[in-house]
Amino acid sequence: MKRLIFIVLMLSIAGWSMAAPQMPQPKVVKINERVYALLGPLGVPSKHNQGYMVNSTVIIGEQGVILVDSGASDEVGSHLRKAIAKLTPKPVTHVINTHHHGDHVLGNVVFQGAEVVSSEICRDMVNKTGDEWVALVESLIGHKLPNTRPVPATVTFAGENSKAERTIQGVKLVFWVPPGSHTVGDMMVYLPDDKVLVGGDILVNRTIPVMRDALVKNWVGTLEQVQGFDAETIVPGHGPLMKKGDVAKLQRQMAGFHAGVEAGYKKGLSDSETRKTLDVAEWKKLEGFETNIGGNVNRAYLEIEQASF
Ligand SMILES: [Zn+2]
Repeated sequence: MKRLIFIVLMLSIAGWSMAAPQMPQPKVVKINERVYALLGPLGVPSKHNQGYMVNSTVIIGEQGVILVDSGASDEVGSHLRKAIAKLTPKPVTHVINTHHHGDHVLGNVVFQGAEVVSSEICRDMVNKTGDEWVALVESLIGHKLPNTRPVPATVTFAGENSKAERTIQGVKLVFWVPPGSHTVGDMMVYLPDDKVLVGGDILVNRTIPVMRDALVKNWVGTLEQVQGFDAETIVPGHGPLMKKGDVAKLQRQMAGFHAGVEAGYKKGLSDSETRKTLDVAEWKKLEGFETNIGGNVNRAYLEIEQASF
């Protein structure tokens, strides 16, 4: 009998430890009466975070909610919907995507009936790369996502390098599509009455910018333009909320990085030789340094090489 109890106990402990880890709760930051940031943990999608690692912005309008960025899967989308339900009983009527990367768009699928807004290029990129993103997230979190499928935008407002102003649910929104920076098809969302700017991954905090799909030179210029907005609160794609001073710092780092890679190229160094010459002390302390610095140098180097042909 004792032995049986022991076996049952061991099995239940094993079962318990094998259960999927819980998705971390968002850090909810109230910006004003109608705007909240839901900050996800830093890092890449993993077994540990179950794919939840993105920042989202919740804008509570007259009849419904506008959500900016929906997470890396239907599971993350549902998780965000639960968090939103704690803030307001109003339904999500609009989902805005800042760019096509899976961690920002694959939660769209749970907001059925909502209008999905992005830039035109982002919509096309979701169509083109969405399935690959689902497979990538599945491999990172270690389980299948049978209910996740890419849902591209149903509406686009601004073409590349332009701004469009719309009032949605009584909230004035400026959709700004800068020249492709973190990705082709980036879009930022500015709320002039709230002085809030939602940056997507053009703006990141305490984690290094990821340039795998980037146009690095454009990005430096976009960061300069960001500082021209009358924004008191800036919601980055990942990490804690930012102020304009943080944007200036990021711009300085990005500009220095780009100039360093360019100098290496001009000296005839290879990309790996160039990497050794860069001063990246400030980024070394940040999340994602080891996993991204090589790819970042490579991307910037190729861009500079292509431009000089
Ligand atoms: Zn992201």
